[in-house]
Amino acid sequence: QTIGAFFDAMAERVPEREALVVAHQKRRYTYRQLQTESRRLASALLGLGLKPGDRIGIWSHNNAEWVLMQLATAMTGLVLVNINPAYRTAEVEYALNKVDCKALVTMPRFKTSDYLGMLRELAPEWAHAQPGEPLQSQTLPHLQHAIWIDVEGEGADEPGFMRFSGLMKTGDPQDARLPQVARLLHNRDPINIQFTSGTTGFPKGATLTHRNILNNGFFIGEAMKLTEQDRLCIPVPLYHCFGMVLGNLAVLTHGGCIVYPNDAFDALTVLQTVQAEKCTGLHGVPTMFIAELDHPDFGKYDLSTLRTGIMAGSPCPIEVMKRVQRDMHMEQVTIAYGMTETSPVSCQSGTDTPLDKRVSTVGLVQPHLEIKIIDPDSGQTVPRGATGELCTKGYSVMQGYWGDDARTREAIDAEGFMHTGDLATMDEEGYVNIVGRIKDMVIRGGENVYPREIEEFLYRHPQIQDVQVVGVPDQKFGEELCAWIIVKPGQELDEAGVREFCKGKIAHYKVPRYMKFVSEFPMTITGKIQKFRIRELMQEELG
Ligand code: ATP
Ligand code: MG
Repeated sequence: QTIGAFFDAMAERVPEREALVVAHQKRRYTYRQLQTESRRLASALLGLGLKPGDRIGIWSHNNAEWVLMQLATAMTGLVLVNINPAYRTAEVEYALNKVDCKALVTMPRFKTSDYLGMLRELAPEWAHAQPGEPLQSQTLPHLQHAIWIDVEGEGADEPGFMRFSGLMKTGDPQDARLPQVARLLHNRDPINIQFTSGTTGFPKGATLTHRNILNNGFFIGEAMKLTEQDRLCIPVPLYHCFGMVLGNLAVLTHGGCIVYPNDAFDALTVLQTVQAEKCTGLHGVPTMFIAELDHPDFGKYDLSTLRTGIMAGSPCPIEVMKRVQRDMHMEQVTIAYGMTETSPVSCQSGTDTPLDKRVSTVGLVQPHLEIKIIDPDSGQTVPRGATGELCTKGYSVMQGYWGDDARTREAIDAEGFMHTGDLATMDEEGYVNIVGRIKDMVIRGGENVYPREIEEFLYRHPQIQDVQVVGVPDQKFGEELCAWIIVKPGQELDEAGVREFCKGKIAHYKVPRYMKFVSEFPMTITGKIQKFRIRELMQEELG
């Protein structure tokens, strides 16, 4: 099945149930309304002359239009290209040209980001475009249509740009072309190009099919036991698979309701929205849950409707999992592990996984997938309990990196296993533990040190709010450990205090040689900490 067909079937089953609430836009849709508006948009996109397989970009924070785009492209076989709203001119030019986008949907501006201004800068020729004619420019040669997400009746028209509300008016939900196009689509067609987070370097565009992400979304929802009664608060970005698959698709395949608290993450609006919308689930990367739990107004909100949710994206400290369970009432919180290239989830704990496993591992392999843990040098599977590189095989593995066959062949081996670059262990019962990234492993004087282990340990210090450990080059030992520490607000801690805490509890070579007290970490917009930037900054500092 395609995503469009699956959604249509759900809209027939639960037409009157609420499907989407967008708190910051004050908009609500039932399944029937969402289906009608998505069809209207699908018809309008066909009206622009776009055809199945054509790429259309979306460069925006979370909003209702995003979901309409996700469904309308699924209904017409257009390939939606998720573009990070933090990108600036050079990056957006790269992304659009890399995949030959024919159309782009963007928001006008957000805080200090002026999206229309950046596009005008890239394509000054558009200022002279004739209404109704395809756009032309030297820097963006493939882009024929630029659409901005407007509030109807507000703001001045922009030469060259089309209004989203105006585009919608050209569409007809009953358009006879829609069922015709739908019959031509196949679930192995690409539907989405998602760029990775850029945690370890420049983002890569993964080509994903209906089959890849629809199935993954469905099984994620199954593990959480989602039903039509569930209302899931999604503060994670939609441009990333966390929002789009673990959020939108997991909910829409189960007849539940998607709730966006805000266009971009903000801890307070998450707390407010969970209370106001009586959410039963909440997603986030660990840094988001930490910000919510530590918010000074945390105690003022009633979060007792919460039951489940997913923490994922980077290592999930046990202490944070425990606080989420206890203080946010999310008794059935689960951890998921995955990567953009595998749709994304490979391992996930279920709501009924025993508590100790649920807070300390990423669960079992997802149904219908295979995983193995190998020695990255020899390629041999390692014994249970030993550390190695996690590899995934099955329906979820991407088609490839768009336009980069060499890189695809490096990542996916001849047997179809995706090599994740993540280090993991598997216990006798099959529970998987993520130890860290191969690139982050530190070799100090011949000893393998996993920063994750030291972070977990330091996390137990009552004054430490967050901590990151990296390796920095060292003449004598090859590498030395360095910890960046954020102290809890209003608390005091110095290096001697941390050393005292480590004394006698961890091996001397695991005690970080360098410690730096900071107020924030360099981060991707998905809320992931960019260790490579910490390493670079430390190298500059240490000379
Ligand atoms: P890039 O590939 O561009 O450097 P990225 O790998 O962070 O960025 P994503 O595809 O968004 O891009 O993230 C996948 C990675 O996130 C995984 O490979 C893994 O390292 C990390 N990750 C995801 N979930 C977990 C988890 N539950 N525990 C630990 N790490 C996780
Ligand atoms: Mg990656």
